[in-house]
This record gives sequence, structure tokens and C-alpha cells, in this order.
Amino acid sequence: MAFRAPVASGSYPNQERDMIDHRRLGRELGLFVSDPLAGAGLPLWLPAGAAARHAVEEYVRDLERRAGYRHVVTPPLGKRELFELSGHLGHFADDMFPPMRLSADDEFVLRPALCPHHALVYRARGRSWRDLPLRIAELGGMYRAERSGVLGGLARVRAISLNDAHNFCALEQVGEEVAEILRLIREAHAALGVRPAGFRLSLRGPGEKYVGDDAQWARAEDLLRAALDGVEYAEGPGEAAFYGPKIDIQVVDAAGRESTISTVQLDFDKPERFDLSYTDSGGARRRPVMVHRSLVGSMERLFAYLIEVHQGAFPPWYAPVQLVVLPVDAGQDAAADHLAADALAAGLRVEVDRAGSLGARIRDAARARVPYAAVIGPREAADRRVSLRLRDGRNLDPMPAADALALVGRVVAARTHALLPPAVPSA
Ligand SMILES: [Zn+2]
Repeated sequence: MAFRAPVASGSYPNQERDMIDHRRLGRELGLFVSDPLAGAGLPLWLPAGAAARHAVEEYVRDLERRAGYRHVVTPPLGKRELFELSGHLGHFADDMFPPMRLSADDEFVLRPALCPHHALVYRARGRSWRDLPLRIAELGGMYRAERSGVLGGLARVRAISLNDAHNFCALEQVGEEVAEILRLIREAHAALGVRPAGFRLSLRGPGEKYVGDDAQWARAEDLLRAALDGVEYAEGPGEAAFYGPKIDIQVVDAAGRESTISTVQLDFDKPERFDLSYTDSGGARRRPVMVHRSLVGSMERLFAYLIEVHQGAFPPWYAPVQLVVLPVDAGQDAAADHLAADALAAGLRVEVDRAGSLGARIRDAARARVPYAAVIGPREAADRRVSLRLRDGRNLDPMPAADALALVGRVVAARTHALLPPAVPSA
């Protein structure tokens, strides 16, 4: 099938690339830092970065809950035997940290994936056809022993927080399940501002690293091809997971590097290894298929991308600070505190900035990509009004403080990327 290769240099002219490098913006905007004492590939998320990330995490969890996912919490390490059973130690050990030995018969490994724990969640009790599809989701920690030479900012890290889920379903449910996952991926991309560069069907390549028989691989491949009907995609031989083929959705960063941000993978192997089963409507014991999927990938890689694609100016719904309040002088301090308290009560992320000239504070707010600045002068304070200044330089006429908060609240709730709500048609 035809595939238009991403044109890396098209969207980002050379001279701009350095300007929008996520490491540089991350430092300037106080989103994250790396510290050699913490270790390479182990970035620290600062309050601004954590605020944006938590807003995205809450959104994704809510999207999943509405789509019938059940969230679980499982530990980021487990016994060596668990990862022997899953096949990770046999097929993926090069990418894992070495096991930690507590005693001769008690060894633990930092997990390189969440699937083994989710397989244990599945078999924690008997399952019937009525339970399927069973969608087990978690935004969970996992670890990869990346070489230090390839690490950089958030794009490639050793401690990963993955938006992950495993959808256990009957074979005949797989097509519909994958189609619904692709729909959710598109919805999440639209809300976040992810612009995919292309879809890839990642297939088995030559070599010994793959598990499962040829018939399983052929069947899984057919199911994914059917789900991609009508979508332009490229084929990626040798890019499959060791247990099955997958659909990968690619993005391109400012330096032109392509990476996977969303994925849907079919797995017939782990249900065998973990002896997973369900009882069908006739009372027979059957094996479910395991669909591994991530709507938005890891928080680290997602934010490396989002920082660059928005040049730090996130849509208001996940901006670290959504509203900064600027009293013109000390005479409006009380009015500024009042507005900030109301904004906080309305669920907004708000700060009051009193230090320095008004002009300098307006420039600081713009530099920090804060979407809204509420300027309060003596006249506004007297009749509880504010002048809203938008990140893009537009100024709105003074309006009642309550109206300004309602306006920001509407934009945030709608998760639009525009700074103003759609105009209400006048009667
Ligand atoms: Zn998985």
C-alpha cells in the first residue's frame, strides 16, 4: 500500500530546530531537568511539567474509563520467574536491567513491560465470555536499560511511565476492538495536538527473536490489515514485537527523527504462556487473544513531542499555569488575591505575579506561554472587572471578573486549542 514518507524538514526549517528542541524549551519553561547525580535518562519533572502531565494523565484516564477500561495499579518490579514465564528474559533481556538478588532463591527484575502483571490480573479469577472484552488499563512504570549514548531529555529515557492497556477478547471480537482503539487514538491525538506522520504495520523480520508459530503470525497480520482498511500505511518488516505484529503510529520530532507514539499489538503467545482462559457460552474453555495498546505512548516521549510541536505553548487545558493575575500596583493586591481564589475554586491553575513593572510581567507571562493574563488596575478593581490579555497578544475589553473566569473555564472544559470559545451567535 502507498505510504507518504514523513518530510522531516518540511515543518521545521533548519534555523528553527534548535529553538524548538524540547530539552531547551523544557529548561526555559521549568518543565523538567536532568541531573547527573540522578542518572542519565532519569529526568526530574518540575512543578510546571508535572502539572501539565497530570492534566494529560487525568484526561487519558477519563477517556479510557468512558470507553469501558478498568484501571489497575501494579508494581514496577516483580520476581524473576514472572519474566521468565512471559518470555521477556528469554527474548528481551538485552533491554532490561540485570536482576537484583535478595537471596539465593529470591531475585527481582525491574519490569520492561506491564503485560506480565496484567496477565496475572486477568487470571486472578475465573473469566467467562460475558467478561470479554476485558480492558485492563494502567499508567504504569517500567524500565529499559538504554545505552547512555542514546539518551536525551524526555525522548529516550530509562524510567518510563506508559499509558498502557491489555484488552483480552475472543478471536471474533479482535477486529472491532482494534477499530475502536484506533478511534480512541484519533480522539486523544486531536485533544492533545498530536499530528501523526504516518501509520506503520510492523511485521516479523528474519531471525530467532520471535515466538509463536507461522499460522498465529499470519492470522494476527490479517486481522491488523483488515483494521487498517482505508488507512494509508507503510510496512515495517522486522519492527514487530517479539510476540506479534502491531500497528504503530509515528510522529516526527523537530530534528526529523521518527518515533512511535501510539501502538496496537496482537498477541496469541502470552495467553498460552500464562494459560489464560474463559468459558464460552456453551461452557467450553477457550483462550482469549491479548491486545496490547497505548493511546498516547509514554508520558516522557509524548511530552518530548508535545513541547516541540506546540513550542511550549500547550493548549489551555493542559497549560501548567492557565491564568496569571497581574495587579497594576499594590492598591489592587486584594482584588488580585480574590480573583486568584475564585479561579482556584473553579479548578483553574492560577498564579499572582506582583514583582516588577507591569510591562515586564506581561512579557514574563508571554515567555512562560501562560494562555491568559488578567490585568487589574484601579478602575477594574473598583468595579470587580479585569482586562484579559491572551498569550497571542490580543487584548479583550474589561469584563466582570466572573465572566473572565467563565470564559477561561469554557475553553479548558472544551479542550480546544483556540484561546477563545467559539463565538455565540447573537440573537
Ligand atoms: Zn503489553
